Amino acid sequence: MKAFDLHRMALDKVPLEFLGEVALRSFYTFVLVFLFLKITGRRGVRQMSLFEVLIILTLGSAAGDVAFYDDVPMLPVLVVFITLAALYRLIMWLMSHSEKLEDLLEGKPVVIVNQGELAWNKMREASLTEFEFFMELRLSGVEQLGQVRLSIMETNGQISVYFYPDEEVKSGLCILPGECYPRFTTVPEAGEYACVRCSHILSMQAGEHQLCPRCANPEWSKASRAIRVT
Ligand SMILES: [Zn+2]
Repeated sequence: MKAFDLHRMALDKVPLEFLGEVALRSFYTFVLVFLFLKITGRRGVRQMSLFEVLIILTLGSAAGDVAFYDDVPMLPVLVVFITLAALYRLIMWLMSHSEKLEDLLEGKPVVIVNQGELAWNKMREASLTEFEFFMELRLSGVEQLGQVRLSIMETNGQISVYFYPDEEVKSGLCILPGECYPRFTTVPEAGEYACVRCSHILSMQAGEHQLCPRCANPEWSKASRAIRVT
């Protein structure tokens, strides 16, 4: 075999006319995927659960193979699609009759912020890290967690945020990107500080250094009192 052989790289053993067949095969898989999405009634990627993403990946892999491999016949993939569609409908029906199965496959909504602080224990159970949703919270206009009365991660990964009115906003952990907020292990002046790991708020005197009573982390940043400017 010769490396960088342009003819082998472009066509290898298939004749030029095979490109026409690839176009036909692609059209075929496109129609199948389109019909599948129509049958299952999904309107967008944003509302897909983990279970649905799994189905789509399986589907995509089957469709990809049939689109351009000359030795992959086209009818078996039709059977794959029909089977997956039937399975999907069956599981959807079962889920509507069993909450347990629904929780297992779709997951449960998880409370991530409660009364201005991260819901530390629940987050750990759900194996989430704070950084995954600080971005989402910022996109919802949150500057510091004390502005948030309640925030829930929904089963499709989107985040619902319920705010405090301005006069009830608490001190909280600033969630702007790190460099604008210095972290201390020994605090420079008296005031309220937020644990950078679990967002617990603690009043400390100048020169104090404490482990967070909630998560045992030694790092603190100054608590922010910023209210929302809308
Ligand atoms: Zn902490």
